Amino acid sequence: MIYLKLFLAAFLVLSVCIFLLLFFTSLIEQRIKVVAKSLVLIPAIVCLSALLLLPANFNWILIIIDILLLLTTTYIFLPKFLFPTIEEDKATGNIDERTIMFARKELKPGSERFNEYYKEYPSHKDNDDKFRSMAGLLGEQSKFYNSLSYNAADAIFSIVDGLHPFVNGEVKDKPVDINPKQFSQFIKHWSKKSGVASIAFTKMKNYHWYSVGGRGERYNRPIEQEHKIGIAFTVEMDHEMVASAPKGSIIMESATQYLKAGIIATQLAQFIRNCGFDARAHIDGNYEVVAPLVARDANLGEIGRMGLLMTPEFGPRVRVGVITTNMPLLVEERQYDNSYEDFCEKCLKCAVNCPASAIPDSDKKIINNVNRWQINSEKCFNYWCMAGTDCGRCMSTCPYSHPNNLMHNIIRWSIRQFPNFRYWAVKMDDFFYGRKTAPAKLPNWIETTS
Ligand code: SF4
Ligand code: SF4
Repeated sequence: MIYLKLFLAAFLVLSVCIFLLLFFTSLIEQRIKVVAKSLVLIPAIVCLSALLLLPANFNWILIIIDILLLLTTTYIFLPKFLFPTIEEDKATGNIDERTIMFARKELKPGSERFNEYYKEYPSHKDNDDKFRSMAGLLGEQSKFYNSLSYNAADAIFSIVDGLHPFVNGEVKDKPVDINPKQFSQFIKHWSKKSGVASIAFTKMKNYHWYSVGGRGERYNRPIEQEHKIGIAFTVEMDHEMVASAPKGSIIMESATQYLKAGIIATQLAQFIRNCGFDARAHIDGNYEVVAPLVARDANLGEIGRMGLLMTPEFGPRVRVGVITTNMPLLVEERQYDNSYEDFCEKCLKCAVNCPASAIPDSDKKIINNVNRWQINSEKCFNYWCMAGTDCGRCMSTCPYSHPNNLMHNIIRWSIRQFPNFRYWAVKMDDFFYGRKTAPAKLPNWIETTS
């Protein structure tokens, strides 16, 4: 009898600790609805505690409750090594950068490039005419126009553009004679000091590179795949600035983190060239690689339903930077983690909340020999041109995007370790944070009347 009571008491104490942690975490995060919900659950635990006072002739109730609790927790927390291993589909092929939405946005009506492009891709014309007729990114007539945040974002993006001449450069004649381990350690530590959230090295693969350049001077130029090693890193996007997406704070935060990633990438590339090895930074508006794929293969995360890199610390709430180089570095072997895709199969929150219905709510499909999800980038970009921002609603609603603190890290870790927990994690996220939610208010210091 005493063991039955001890088991139930331990379960109740653990439950109280979890709800208290949720309560204080939500207080700090200023999520008042979650604070209220976590408080409502405390009486339920108190009622359950009354079972501990049952007289001896009602032991069978305690036995049933204990057995149910034991079976349920054992089932939910079965460790992942008891489940079949899922093999990853190998990616193939290259993307032509001319076909991505940013490249298509740069085509000037009536120009030679414009005419050639739509001759080659006539099916893109109707859609592209549509986004050209809209207010456009940071446009004054756009839905979420906000003078302060839009002007701030524009200012930051102009500085990012100013970094473009530094992505490439001259290599010093003589390579510094240091072994790959020392180079790797130096780059990792320095980058962390400079503000990256995570950084790793990988072997460059054919599919990491665009086939043909699509923007600025790179237009129509075959990409040469000059480098063997990729350095990928992430920088965190601020949770409060992302929470009010698709309002003006999101594009201001995107610009801020593109700038941070751009500075770190260009300074690292320059450092590597100073050490005598060729290097190129890939930064906003000036990529020769598909950055999320390089970051994924460096084990910084996995690609989720919404097509963004999902990291263990911040989910998709990051920007990615890449440097390609021939400097000898200690590369990571790819370790596929199926937990993200498995969670996405159960979650669908980004698809439910996407204002453009651009994220598939169906199963993965075979695209270029890979079973995956693919967002409708035309619908997504058209929405951006109407909203005036880069939207980010998918990023803000993703359960992986919660702040990097003890409470959410325990949940993210449990999602990776316990496959049966994933279903319940989705249900809990829906219960506490809502399934289809409204964007948070803009921070007061950004709000304007215009
Ligand atoms: S919101 Fe859900 S389905 Fe979408 S990427 Fe995040 S975890 Fe996956
Ligand atoms: S950025 Fe917005 S429109 Fe684009 S996929 Fe995400 S939620 Fe949808």
